[in-house]
Amino acid sequence: MAEEQRSIPKEVDAVVVGAGLVGCSIAYQLAKRGKRVAVFDLRGICSGASGRNGGMTGSGSSMLTETGKAVYALTTENLRMLRDELPRELEDDFMLRLPGTFDIATNEEQFEHLESTTKAQRELGGDVEMLDLKALKSMVPVVSDRVLGAKFARGSGHLWPFNLVHALANGARRFGAEFHPWTPVNKICVANGIVTGVETSRGTVLAETVVVAANSWTPTLLDDLPAGALVPARGQILVTEAVGDVIRHPFGTNFDKEYGRQTATGQILCGGYRRLDINEGLGSYAERVSPPVLKGIGECIATLFPPLGSLKVVRCWAGIMGFTADGLPLIGRYGSAKGLYVAAGFNGGGFSWGAATGKALAQMILHGRAAFDLEPFDPNRFANGNVSWDNPFTAGEQNNPRKQTAQSGSN
Ligand SMILES: Cc1cc2nc3c(=O)[nH]c(=O)nc-3n(C[C@H](O)[C@H](O)[C@H](O)COP(=O)(O)OP(=O)(O)OC[C@H]3O[C@@H](n4cnc5c(N)ncnc54)[C@H](O)[C@@H]3O)c2cc1C
Repeated sequence: MAEEQRSIPKEVDAVVVGAGLVGCSIAYQLAKRGKRVAVFDLRGICSGASGRNGGMTGSGSSMLTETGKAVYALTTENLRMLRDELPRELEDDFMLRLPGTFDIATNEEQFEHLESTTKAQRELGGDVEMLDLKALKSMVPVVSDRVLGAKFARGSGHLWPFNLVHALANGARRFGAEFHPWTPVNKICVANGIVTGVETSRGTVLAETVVVAANSWTPTLLDDLPAGALVPARGQILVTEAVGDVIRHPFGTNFDKEYGRQTATGQILCGGYRRLDINEGLGSYAERVSPPVLKGIGECIATLFPPLGSLKVVRCWAGIMGFTADGLPLIGRYGSAKGLYVAAGFNGGGFSWGAATGKALAQMILHGRAAFDLEPFDPNRFANGNVSWDNPFTAGEQNNPRKQTAQSGSN
């Protein structure tokens, strides 16, 4: 019987809301540790941002602070898990390739920024270096003569997101987890300060633990999350026809706002230019593409790699990211109700976090604390109501995202 037709359980140990990368990762780690888990999604598995992204992954941080160290530790563990642990455990191949990634500078300002982040990342132990145009061209002959150089991050790369998410879901099923797609969770039930379960479109499920892994949709379930702490942000991607092996390394440019890679099938996938979208894509749950953004992305490919400028576009799509005010995800216990957890708001980079987040949160749920410093990701950090935007992914965009969030009524 198809999963969406199967009856929902009356009671489990843990309910996970959301069957994207993060929800499937948490379900896998909890089920592996013996918990009875049910995962609910309002659509299918991997139908949110996890099935609509660029597939780039890496690790590291350029912040020389305790927060930077915490980001570095969790993303480094994530990359280790993707490379060494999960392919073996899940007996699956999610086409992880780690040739290193470029961040290409097209002007002096970008070059200087990359030089300073390279320095900071090296101090934190990152394997990164600056390349001048000659060195860059020797690795990517199709790159434009007009760019200035690039930061090269060894060990980063790309993967096929669907395979990873479905591999985690299958791994969770093998340990007894149930998946119920097309079954939205409408309410989290709390009695006397303790979580008791959830109300879904198909009935109530009792559980002493509820994890909200609904990314951009999280504010629709946690109505006390301060406005602007986590907002939906639409991103768009286009894909060209296939060409020969021309770009071995995923690339970013313009403060990482534009990004892309050549897929295993030879197509060039590129995304970005959110600043050409209505309200910079902030506040929108509409998974629709818009011509100005796609034009910008097309021009980005042609500008960085002139010989690829005449390739035909064969596909495009939009997806919704969960952007947080400070650019950091929300991971941990939420609010005052015992048993309520959140893992959401992974901005533009969930594939550098999802696997390790599942492990860390499972440790926290089972043992009261994780083996990682999750303090900087405390989901309650905006509870004082003072939400101020300092999001590195949004910094430098045309408009002040805080204003946009307020105007859009924040979700
Ligand atoms: C265009 C684009 C490009 C991107 N590029 C990259 C990239 O190259 N590298 C990278 O690392 N990251 C990238 N990202 C970000 C990355 O996709 C996300 O960070 C990651 O997928 C987040 O995973 P998630 O499981 O938290 O969220 P999602 O995959 O969005 O999953 C949340 C799930 O919750 C479900 N849900 C919501 N509300 C409910 C409810 N009430 N009841 C039940 N279910 C519910 C949704 O249906 C959804 O399936 C990109 C994102 C986009 C949109």
